[in-house]
Amino acid sequence: MLRDSCWRVGARLCFLRAGVRAAAESGRRALVSCIDPSIGLNEEQKEFQKVAFNFAAREMAPHTAEWDQKELFPVDVMRKAAQLGFGGVYMRTDVGGSGLSRLDASVIFEALATGCTSTTAYISIHNMCAWMIDAFGSEEQRHRFCPPLCAMEKFASYCLTEPGSGSDAASLLTSAKRQGDHYVLNGTKAFISGGGEADTYVVMCRTGGPGPKGISCVVVEKGAPGLSFGKKEKKMGWNSQPTRAVIFEDCAVPVANRIGAEGQGFLIAMQGLNGGRVNIASCSLGAAHASVILARDHLKIRKQFGAPLANNQFVEFLHDSNFGFSIHLLPVSRDLNLVSGKLSSASYDTECHGDSSGA
Ligand SMILES: Cc1cc2nc3c(=O)[nH]c(=O)nc-3n(C[C@H](O)[C@H](O)[C@H](O)COP(=O)(O)OP(=O)(O)OC[C@H]3O[C@@H](n4cnc5c(N)ncnc54)[C@H](O)[C@@H]3O)c2cc1C
Repeated sequence: MLRDSCWRVGARLCFLRAGVRAAAESGRRALVSCIDPSIGLNEEQKEFQKVAFNFAAREMAPHTAEWDQKELFPVDVMRKAAQLGFGGVYMRTDVGGSGLSRLDASVIFEALATGCTSTTAYISIHNMCAWMIDAFGSEEQRHRFCPPLCAMEKFASYCLTEPGSGSDAASLLTSAKRQGDHYVLNGTKAFISGGGEADTYVVMCRTGGPGPKGISCVVVEKGAPGLSFGKKEKKMGWNSQPTRAVIFEDCAVPVANRIGAEGQGFLIAMQGLNGGRVNIASCSLGAAHASVILARDHLKIRKQFGAPLANNQFVEFLHDSNFGFSIHLLPVSRDLNLVSGKLSSASYDTECHGDSSGA
């Protein structure tokens, strides 16, 4: 049965399962919590969640403060995460993805974020970019770009925002003029997560007239002539992932790197973000969960006036409010489940894969 299941959802799941067994055998428990984050999940999802909680506790949480303080992008740890199938969670298995659902991904990112929210947020952006290529790329593009992304041998960045175009993304100005079998890109993308460190830039650029229908999506690979990066942005936290401008100056990109048809780029960008928003919200839930547990544990250890803080009436109320907090978290989780369930639905996948028309 185990073999059947592994076959069904892809080989990477075997790694996830192996991780579950290892966790059970070691007898270690990642997070002891009165908030039960597994409520409403099926047995398989509970297993993914355990693997992710364990990975977060062992590989991420002990280092997250150092990564933040020293602004380290933890490449090796992310590659370990990819060995468990977290580099392409909801990508198809024929290109190295784990073939899981959006809800599975939401559960996994929420659990990973309890160890390092910033790194998990980047992993989720990487997943979003890789999925965009998997969903809208041609077969040749899928097999060229996706396997190293699923293994996180290469890292991906999503390039939509520009200095003059944030919420109003359809007004973006980065131009891509066709010259023979290349596009020549000019413009600047702002606030790009993974910028400078990533290898594969999924770039929304203007090949046509104004508005969303003039936008196309191309993959620009690190090392392309005319591609450069701005200085690392100074942030309050989230420093384990760099944020930089990505600059194109007469940057020639093969037409063969265009994902989907000309003019389809804005749709691809928004489809990516539909899942990306659920992923980031899941990271926030994981961070909130970990914060409550840390605060609760501190209340038990910290003594003032000769007793643990948890014994004081008001703080006791806060301590007990773990329960209340879980009541607030659960509807949020359930809403996320509904959205990610919709994203996983057959019609959505057909819609994406049906539109696929690579260069
Ligand atoms: C740490 C970090 C990482 C990021 N990573 C990436 C990345 O990897 N790739 C990428 O492409 N972008 C990235 N971004 C950019 C991010 O997506 C943009 O910041 C976002 O799209 C908002 O754009 P803006 O900052 O220009 O805000 P603006 O568009 O200037 O909006 C400012 C405020 O006005 C509000 N507002 C705007 N329009 C309206 C309206 N019509 N009605 C009411 N309120 C409105 C907005 O909600 C917002 O609160 C990142 C940003 C940050 C801070």
